[in-house]
Amino acid sequence: MSISCDYLVVGSGVSGLSFALEASAHGDVVVVTKRSRDESNTKYAQGGIATVLAQSDSFASHVSDTMAAGAGLCHDVVVELCVREWPARIAMLREIGVRFTEVHTDEHNADLDLGREGGHSARRVAHASDMTGREVERALIEELGKKQSVRILEEHTAVDLISVSEFGDPDRCVGAYVLDNATGMVISIVARATVLATGGAGKVYLYTTNPDVATGDGVAMAYRAGAEVANMEFCQFHPTGLFHPKAKNFLISEALRGEGAVLRRIDGTPFMSSHHPMGDLAPRDVVSRAIDFEMKRTGAEHVLLDISHLPASFVRERFPNIHAECLRFGVDITSQSVPVVPVAHFMCGGVTTDLHGRTSLPGLWAIGECACTGLHGANRLASNSLLEGLVFGHRAAIKLASEIGELRSCPLPAVPDWVVGNAAPSDEAVVVTQNWAELRQLMWNYVGILRSDSRLSKALRRIAVIKAEIKEYYWRYLVNRDMLELRNITTVAELIVVSAASRKESRGVHGTIDYPNTDPALAFDTVLKRGVPPHLRGGRLRR
Ligand SMILES: Cc1cc2nc3c(=O)[nH]c(=O)nc-3n(C[C@H](O)[C@H](O)[C@H](O)COP(=O)(O)OP(=O)(O)OC[C@H]3O[C@@H](n4cnc5c(N)ncnc54)[C@H](O)[C@@H]3O)c2cc1C
Repeated sequence: MSISCDYLVVGSGVSGLSFALEASAHGDVVVVTKRSRDESNTKYAQGGIATVLAQSDSFASHVSDTMAAGAGLCHDVVVELCVREWPARIAMLREIGVRFTEVHTDEHNADLDLGREGGHSARRVAHASDMTGREVERALIEELGKKQSVRILEEHTAVDLISVSEFGDPDRCVGAYVLDNATGMVISIVARATVLATGGAGKVYLYTTNPDVATGDGVAMAYRAGAEVANMEFCQFHPTGLFHPKAKNFLISEALRGEGAVLRRIDGTPFMSSHHPMGDLAPRDVVSRAIDFEMKRTGAEHVLLDISHLPASFVRERFPNIHAECLRFGVDITSQSVPVVPVAHFMCGGVTTDLHGRTSLPGLWAIGECACTGLHGANRLASNSLLEGLVFGHRAAIKLASEIGELRSCPLPAVPDWVVGNAAPSDEAVVVTQNWAELRQLMWNYVGILRSDSRLSKALRRIAVIKAEIKEYYWRYLVNRDMLELRNITTVAELIVVSAASRKESRGVHGTIDYPNTDPALAFDTVLKRGVPPHLRGGRLRR
């Protein structure tokens, strides 16, 4: 079976949905998403969206905070562009009905309530209570429901990109093979432009804030298809995931520290001021490493985050979701400290793009967390990512609007059907569960917050064994979502390790005991492409 369309969008988080919304004005759009339409990293974003709205704030200050966090690898053109475009994206969200939290300035008027987060030198984080992503996702889905030209296929998992090479031209992406999770059938979706909006890859690590869908599928598919990826060594660990045996992936937002929460050792003593001049509001990489250091030094399994000194009514009102969720696990944050540990949170690297979201593979675009646009550099500034997805969703849609006429003048190619061959239903699912657990554990132990050459080479050897088992399984059995996700996290794990091993310095969220200092001569992106050795580059991406 085959479907054709102007735009195939893989993923229904903030970037995929916002692209689909704009693109629906000039083409027919098919969105495939591997679970329900609202399941995504976006849905769990708590803190909010950083943008310059206050009189006392400035674009220059937001640019400088973003560049400082990015540790010398942010592309200044991209940072400048995003920071300046963000107020317009916030206005668009308000137009489609996103209900941000407001404060009343007088009886009749209200302004957006702006929160403060680590690494920001001003209050500039617009939020919808502590459920910002959920509110943004709700409004986008509602708005998209009004568009006749958009079709959303839930429970459909993109397996691989389809590329064709014609008349000696380089490969061009013309769509994707997509698995219908319910029937097990793989269909081909042929498109004039294919937009990856598949989000992050937190599931590559044992402990993460990311939901189950975050298995780096877009990066893995793009890499297999021959597109460039960059900066995969820069996985950001969030300093404060809830530490509880039954909590799967619950984040305690940085906004708590923005409002005055303090990190303490188990014995109650605060420690951040001895690690960084900004204390509890230091950038994320600094805080994660400080907690890791304190835990290793004292042998504790976690540290404590304490906001109990603030009025209980304020805490309940400002953080209703976090308050309720912690209560479920027996901690009342209005009167007790919360046990926290650093957890994998955000992938700063991804598929390289230009200023419009175009990748190095013609016909393929990438937006949101799966892309490497140059905004985050070696470390993302808190609350800068929802808007990156919105800006690049918008820019890709505008660019494609100007190209779609010409793209339609060429007929869509005939593509081969998915071949099942001799593959049979699996009676060896244990291979998937075993390798899934092993890979995530080894990434946690060997490729975590602080790395070393020896641990990285151990990780690479084990990944090679897992890869070989998956390859055999892939050809022998019919594909299903679990095995596709395992194949993808394994590819992403390998890209992370290869990138980390090739960076002989510590920078941003990449820290190694073998090269503890930052080397100014290495202020370049790590670029990977299938069949080409990893290399550092500042050229094409810096524009
Ligand atoms: C707990 C948490 C809190 C956060 N807080 C903030 C915050 O306060 N501010 C901020 O700016 N950022 C925050 N972030 C980061 C931010 O949420 C993400 O970077 C952003 O939402 C990514 O959006 P996206 O559209 O790129 O991807 P996502 O929202 O992750 O969406 C990806 C989509 O792709 C689909 N998909 C993936 N693979 C496939 C496939 N093979 N086939 C079909 N569909 C597929 C998924 O099902 C999903 O629908 C937070 C993240 C987490 C996890």
